[in-house]
Amino acid sequence: MSQLRIVVLVKQVPDTANVTGDAMKEDGTVNRAALPAVFNPEDLNALEEALKIKDRHTARVTVVTMGPPAAVQVLRESLYRGADEVILLTDKAFAGADTLATSYALSLAVRKLGGCDLVLCGRQAIDGDTAQVGPQTAEKLGYPQITCVSRIDELMAPADGAAGAITATRSIEGGFETLASSLPCLLTVTGEANDPRPPSVKLVMTYKGIDAEAMPEYDDTYLDPESDEAEVCMLGRNGKPVCRAKIVQWDHLALAADREALGLRGSPTRVKEIESVVLAQSEARMLEPDEAGVAQLVHELIEEHILG
Ligand SMILES: Cc1cc2nc3c(=O)[nH]c(=O)nc-3n(C[C@H](O)[C@H](O)[C@H](O)COP(=O)(O)OP(=O)(O)OC[C@H]3O[C@@H](n4cnc5c(N)ncnc54)[C@H](O)[C@@H]3O)c2cc1C
Repeated sequence: MSQLRIVVLVKQVPDTANVTGDAMKEDGTVNRAALPAVFNPEDLNALEEALKIKDRHTARVTVVTMGPPAAVQVLRESLYRGADEVILLTDKAFAGADTLATSYALSLAVRKLGGCDLVLCGRQAIDGDTAQVGPQTAEKLGYPQITCVSRIDELMAPADGAAGAITATRSIEGGFETLASSLPCLLTVTGEANDPRPPSVKLVMTYKGIDAEAMPEYDDTYLDPESDEAEVCMLGRNGKPVCRAKIVQWDHLALAADREALGLRGSPTRVKEIESVVLAQSEARMLEPDEAGVAQLVHELIEEHILG
């Protein structure tokens, strides 16, 4: 049976639970240095779906992120959970990307990998919140897509020249919908899909080094800007370097990308303002959950020209 090739797109996001006054730069892009960074929650669900497939099939899971060098942390966390290969798209040319420029770069990365059978994304990122990157990436790759997937029902790997197939259930307003697609296909996965596995202690040890005391301090300086491949090296108990995994780096040249379609230059979106909206109790009003309550609500919304 041939090996399924799965690409998971993951994003390191600022922790939007703690948005402060200096969260935005003057050009309307996020000041990531001012906010703690986390693994986008639904991307962990997407990675978990990939790892569940790998538990049952012969599969290779490649995780790709586009971001600054510090985004390598989500790649390390992916290795700790069971990813086979991780790729960091990092370049000043990618900075300030909106969804169009982001999906352009990500689709080129999938193409550079020679395509794949399945692309898995989170439904949406908690910072931009647009849920556009998955669908746009599918469109640019020419892959069919199933969005808002809460369950993968069936997966048939390609075999003997026949295309594989996937059936998945998506959450829609007021219910569920089950769709089938041939492979390759792109899925965006919701938080309902699974409980992501925690990092495996064994894999943390494999990738982080066996002898913590002998290990050099980890920072991003091991990513050699001259090379497009940086090895995660550490010292084993015998003091000899042990290279366990490669974090591949690609810039816009590696992707053979059109410079004008990348980053801020390739992004028609401008974010004017960002704020954290916290409703005070005095701003909320309870209505009776009956017909009269709903009628009163609709009446008030029409009066305030919010509806109608
Ligand atoms: C407040 C705010 C509003 C914004 N509004 C817009 C807007 O209206 N239109 C717009 O185009 N941009 C907007 N942006 C910019 C937005 O952050 C970027 O476009 C971002 O690169 C991707 O969009 P997203 O975060 O909405 O991703 P989503 O489309 O919500 O992400 C869906 C999935 O795509 C994958 N993905 C997304 N980004 C990456 C990445 N860098 N690397 C790997 N995988 C990734 C992940 O699997 C993710 O779960 C906004 C940013 C902010 C802070």
